Amino acid sequence: MKKTVKDIDVKGKKVFVRCDFNVPVDENGNITDDRRIAGAAPTIEYLIEQGAKVILASHMGRPKGKPDMKYSLKVVADRLSEIISKKVTFVSEPEVVGEKTKAAAAALADGEVLLIENVRFREEETKNMPEFSAELAELAEIFVNDAFGTAHRAHCSTAGIAEHMPAVSGFLMEKEIRFFGNLMEAPERPFTAVLGGAKAGDKIPLIKNLLDKVDRIIIGGGMAFTFLKSMGNEIGSSLLEEDKIALTAELLAEAKEKGVELLLPVDVVCASEFKNDSPSEICSADAIPAGKMGLDIGPKTCQIYRNAILNSSSVVWNGPMGVFEMDNFAAGTKAVAQALNDCSGVTVVGGGDSAAAVRKFDLEANISHISTGGGASLEFLEGKTLPGVDCLLDK
Ligand code: ADP
Ligand code: MG
Repeated sequence: MKKTVKDIDVKGKKVFVRCDFNVPVDENGNITDDRRIAGAAPTIEYLIEQGAKVILASHMGRPKGKPDMKYSLKVVADRLSEIISKKVTFVSEPEVVGEKTKAAAAALADGEVLLIENVRFREEETKNMPEFSAELAELAEIFVNDAFGTAHRAHCSTAGIAEHMPAVSGFLMEKEIRFFGNLMEAPERPFTAVLGGAKAGDKIPLIKNLLDKVDRIIIGGGMAFTFLKSMGNEIGSSLLEEDKIALTAELLAEAKEKGVELLLPVDVVCASEFKNDSPSEICSADAIPAGKMGLDIGPKTCQIYRNAILNSSSVVWNGPMGVFEMDNFAAGTKAVAQALNDCSGVTVVGGGDSAAAVRKFDLEANISHISTGGGASLEFLEGKTLPGVDCLLDK
């Protein structure tokens, strides 16, 4: 386990908190979804209560390593101040850590909060260049990483800075590490992985790693068709990655060898065109007509997958079961979300689109954990080391 803000004395200390304030803004610069800011509040409020001098940093958008006021964090400072009902000092300098920022950090009293400008205004940030890490480090004495969404990247503000001072997790990060760590190291069994999404190629490292961890793998989404094809099925014009057929066949064999149950769709919802209003029909998964493409799992498959999920003590889900953005092909994804919600075991959703689907269907209530990091959660499940987690002190 990694140390958290609760394992370190922060009173009177200058604490640098890497947050994920990468919120969407509209053309007028207004925040359209402030959940990430609200999500960061518990760590920030805890530090304020403990009498730390709180210095916040984040990236937002893609300013491409140069100052671009379209991506200034000013809007975040204003919104955060409303959420925590406390003044948030904001200093904007093109160099991010300039004289004004240093002065503002030095002048902080215990319990005061400063937000510095978008760290990606500096091109060194995403290259993890030591000069910028040292500049950030000059501002503070303790590093808190609460940005799971960027933890799979070694950047100055997510990993480089940790070489200069004690580093611990914030509460959001702690929750992510706890859920994913438990799944990877000591899951309640039976442990089921539900995998979908567009491409098999994207998920092969994930399946490979999970074959050593799980009892059951459920496959849906566009990636299912490469598997079905590798078994000799007719898949019509469904999504196919020719160059991955051999690999998927190997994975099927490996699952068998390792005693991992692997479920594939038995029926699919097919249409002639990739359009919501294209007339659809239910086809058997071993007889998809020529010219038809599978855009969702069928009703029999939904029932089988639901039962498998309900029969699990832990479940991790990554990737939608169909083209859920189109209402007529959303039923499979909704059924899986509903099953996770109804499952009494530990249920975890990783993956940006899967999390979006759960929210779209308003099925968040009973799911144990919905990850805040799509790419980071995928890498965690692939068994990779996340630099933004690895750099934190062990308990
Ligand atoms: P996540 O972000 O949860 O990891 P992915 O990014 O891997 O998920 O995949 C999400 C995308 O997969 C969605 O945009 C969805 O429309 C697409 N998809 C799912 N099923 C199919 C299918 N049968 N054919 C084409 N695309 C699909
Ligand atoms: Mg995605």
